[in-house]
Amino acid sequence: MPKSGFIAIIGRPNVGKSTLLNRLIGHKVSIVSEKPQTTRHRILGIITDERGQIVFVDTPGIHKPGYELNRRMMQIIYEALQDVDLVILMVDVGQEFGQGDRFVLDMIKEAARPTILAINKVDAFKKSRALPIIDQYQKEYGFLDYIPISALCGDNVDVLIDKVFEHLPEGEPLYPPEYITDKSERFIVGELIRERVLAHARQELPFSTAVVVEKFDESEREMRNFVKIIATIIVERESQKAIVIGRGGQMIKKIGTEARKEIEAFLGAKVYLDLFVRVQERWRDLPRFLDEIGIGTEKKI
Ligand code: GDP
Ligand code: MG
Repeated sequence: MPKSGFIAIIGRPNVGKSTLLNRLIGHKVSIVSEKPQTTRHRILGIITDERGQIVFVDTPGIHKPGYELNRRMMQIIYEALQDVDLVILMVDVGQEFGQGDRFVLDMIKEAARPTILAINKVDAFKKSRALPIIDQYQKEYGFLDYIPISALCGDNVDVLIDKVFEHLPEGEPLYPPEYITDKSERFIVGELIRERVLAHARQELPFSTAVVVEKFDESEREMRNFVKIIATIIVERESQKAIVIGRGGQMIKKIGTEARKEIEAFLGAKVYLDLFVRVQERWRDLPRFLDEIGIGTEKKI
């Protein structure tokens, strides 16, 4: 009998959850940056082999909600904790245990789901640093396993997959075997553009930026392997718009060139990309706008 199930990747911002999701499925479907709150949606990454199917659920980082946007992001995490068969709690081996970790641990205890602790970024630190962390977490909760990994370099990721299969319930695959994510190309294209903005943005700008893909024209994809994309970068203030555009349009040009390269690699097609910038005040608190860009509107698992 094959196995199948959902497993949520949970943890504080920046510990490497999205990097792990991409590594697990071998494709970049979830964007990565060193800025907190990069991931705003629930993103599925699916792997299928002779043992069965694992549906990983990438989630936003656990943080205190201020805006409606952040409330929806936390809701995604709470729902994932309720709905999945297993949880991977990810921590950063290089980070001291703090208040945020306490908050996360309490969430895990409260949810009381079978949970694997993954201690990430072991490539960047001495391996021995994982030991006291394992010791501490062991005292707090009965985790199924404690696995030091490097999501970036791939160390122990195969062990993690083995462990997940070990603990997964029996069941038929939930998605066709060729599926790697639930997200559309159009969605991922918007995220790749946002990732390029994040890469160049500072201070408040990452939090204030959203991307809307206005047009995803594939009419010449089959004949010419060509896709035409028009997208708008949304910010909250005129001053931010000026930063994104840059002096003489330099910044938006750079973002556009980098994003186009990423999108071409992702789609395996030639891409024409046209970018606009628009101010939408307080969009992080506007339910209608958040609905429109699809944050917190995913169907339940
Ligand atoms: P998330 O917020 O938990 O989804 O974290 P991301 O996947 O966006 O990664 C946050 C930052 O940590 C990025 O700069 C990644 O390149 C970096 N990172 C993620 N995993 C590793 C790892 O295993 N080793 C190292 N050295 N850096 C990592
Ligand atoms: Mg992420």
